[in-house]
Amino acid sequence: VALTAHSNRDLLAEQEREWHPAFVGLVNGSTEHGARSKNGGTACLVEAATHPDVKIVVNGIVGAAGLEATLAALKAGKRVALANKETLVMAGELVTRAAREGGGEIVPVDSEHSAVLQCVTGRRPTELARLILTASGGPFRTWGPERVSQATVAEALKHPTWTMGKKITVDSATLVNKALEVIEASFLFAVEYEQVDVVIHPQSVIHAFAEFVDGSVLAQVGFPTMELPILYALTYPDRVPDSGVRRFDPVAAGTLTFEAVQLDRFPAYAMGREAARRGGIAPAMFNAANEVAVQLFLDEKISFGRIADILERVLGRASAGDATTLTGVLAADAEARRLAQEAACS
Ligand code: MG
Repeated sequence: VALTAHSNRDLLAEQEREWHPAFVGLVNGSTEHGARSKNGGTACLVEAATHPDVKIVVNGIVGAAGLEATLAALKAGKRVALANKETLVMAGELVTRAAREGGGEIVPVDSEHSAVLQCVTGRRPTELARLILTASGGPFRTWGPERVSQATVAEALKHPTWTMGKKITVDSATLVNKALEVIEASFLFAVEYEQVDVVIHPQSVIHAFAEFVDGSVLAQVGFPTMELPILYALTYPDRVPDSGVRRFDPVAAGTLTFEAVQLDRFPAYAMGREAARRGGIAPAMFNAANEVAVQLFLDEKISFGRIADILERVLGRASAGDATTLTGVLAADAEARRLAQEAACS
């Protein structure tokens, strides 16, 4: 029905020729055919997300930029297949409230959360005791803290098990991605962040565990691919046949191992859990500061080790704010971006 892109006009035009969507929007620039989107800029995202013929909105926007479209879609009663975890981290209260009030529904595309959803579907919320999200550990799992702090962009982008965009790949190397996922899980499944544990699992075969009040633990298992989480977000709670899927083979999966997260190796992850503990606007500030720090690292303006420093300094200066209003969340986001830039320059 509707397709939008940020700035890749050529790829968007190619997809338009293949799928003939009724609506096309380009955030940065105008589309090939003089734009069927009436609105330029980010307004086209909201227009696409609230289009009357749209039933499911797949939000794969990176970062805080995806928030407005998510809120608009949920208020319009749509299902949002959410790959944009930053939205839930920065404005979890607002997003869950928009879903309640508008009759919309959030279904995770994030593989760990899709795994949890598959384990808890059909169970009552009161039966869930704890979640354990798995983390591959990224490319620096076996490196010493000193070497990690000096890692290059190329080294950080070499993810061992998943092929993903640059921002999330750096977030996987710092383990910030997992901190964001802890906060994301607490909002998606209405559990306290203390009930969400993380374990390093280098093979990325088990995507999450769900522990129930009777001590039983279910896990969702499969070779790492985003195809299943995307498909399940579209068909949930139903399952549809996928003839192209690589069949699971326990022998080929080999030995599965698990390790505790070493906080000294992943200080940015520790900062993320601290932001979760504080609640309020702290997660929004953590997320915004991280977006700035990751971009500075990708632009080779700061070292890998400085990402955690910047997060610590921004959280250290976080003031009080209101996480229950959009104005409050956006103010916290802007303040954290300013503080992060300042921290990077000093
Ligand atoms: Mg994930």
